[in-house]
Amino acid sequence: MNDHSLPPEFVSRLQQIIEPQNLASVLESFHAPKHTSFRVNTLKARSSDMIPRLRTTGLDAEPVAWCEEAFVVSAAQRSLLTHSPRIDTGDIYIQGLSSILAVTLLDVQPEQTNLDLAAAPGGKASHIAALMHNQGKLSVVEPIRKRMYRLADTLKRLGVTNAKTYLMDGRKVGGKVPGRFDRVLLDAPCSSESRIRGDESGSWKYWSERKIREQSRKQSGLIRSGFEALRPGGILLYCTCSFAPEENEAIVVRLLDEYPDQARLMPLDLPIKNWQAGLQKFGTQEFPGELEQTRRILPDSNFDGFFLAKVTKV
Ligand code: SAM
Repeated sequence: MNDHSLPPEFVSRLQQIIEPQNLASVLESFHAPKHTSFRVNTLKARSSDMIPRLRTTGLDAEPVAWCEEAFVVSAAQRSLLTHSPRIDTGDIYIQGLSSILAVTLLDVQPEQTNLDLAAAPGGKASHIAALMHNQGKLSVVEPIRKRMYRLADTLKRLGVTNAKTYLMDGRKVGGKVPGRFDRVLLDAPCSSESRIRGDESGSWKYWSERKIREQSRKQSGLIRSGFEALRPGGILLYCTCSFAPEENEAIVVRLLDEYPDQARLMPLDLPIKNWQAGLQKFGTQEFPGELEQTRRILPDSNFDGFFLAKVTKV
């Protein structure tokens, strides 16, 4: 298949990653308009009040079957949504469905001690706090000062009161507080391949195989740190918005190899149909059979491409 408006190396990699029956729709998704989704912030509002209120402003929000707080509006209504005063009040938060889904898979409960290891701008951290009902403890980490300001602003606007922010490199956390957390979310910095848009060449300006390799080194350090910080019996969710196996399967395999007696992959039962199981092979690299338990969400008009792996500490 030729797709001349995307970088050829990127398309050629996707041909090796995406199952043949899904390739055409995945390539198409880089060109098609996307719906916009949002989450009602249950720390400040209830869906049953908020949706009728939004309707009076002309917004037709469709519910999402697998998450009570998640809603979708058509691409044509995006601007109406992004200008809603309910965003400034923190009643709603614009967030991709793949991101919302990731947090729902972490089995977050109030009173836990939880960690978001790469947290800015705070979409997932604020969702975790909402699922904790602002109870228990949530530590959020971000090393880039400017992004930390955005993170702090999100947490404040959304009424999060159980979070403590740490301006630091996530790779140092495991050494400082080993065995501390019930849940660890690692939404890792990545090559952001899902942000590539066919009609915006600027969207792949910084994409390269070298960038993938660079991110991969950092991700390995981060997942190791996140796993060290996890208490026995706890759960770590690793995710990226990249398709690249070097940033996904390879990172998880390295963790399983480093902690053979402790790290176990958990099944991921997704409430959607647009996904494929983790790869068994990419180029010359083979991955063990258990990697089949990881998931790649396939992009469509609602979802961005995403990779998910759920790991527990035995
Ligand atoms: N989870 C966030 C959300 O839902 O809003 C998005 C996280 S974004 C994919 C990855 C974040 O990791 C970025 O804010 C980036 O600055 C941060 N990051 C980069 N290097 C890091 C490091 N060494 N330790 C922790 N975070 C890092």
